[in-house]
Amino acid sequence: MCPYCRSGNQEGALVCASCARDIAVPATLIAERDDLLRKRDELRDELRRARDEVEAIMKRRKSR
Ligand SMILES: [Zn+2]
Repeated sequence: MCPYCRSGNQEGALVCASCARDIAVPATLIAERDDLLRKRDELRDELRRARDEVEAIMKRRKSR
């Protein structure tokens, strides 16, 4: 079943016979990937904040 045009395809088909779109990767996986990319960006921001915090702590220690 093509997720785009809903026409039936042979099981394991890489491309839809009706609309010629790539159906090897299901739409649910694409959505999951987008979600993971968003989470990766969030983690990257978090990591940056953590690094800044560690740097600030190290500077404070040095000045002591
Ligand atoms: Zn299709």
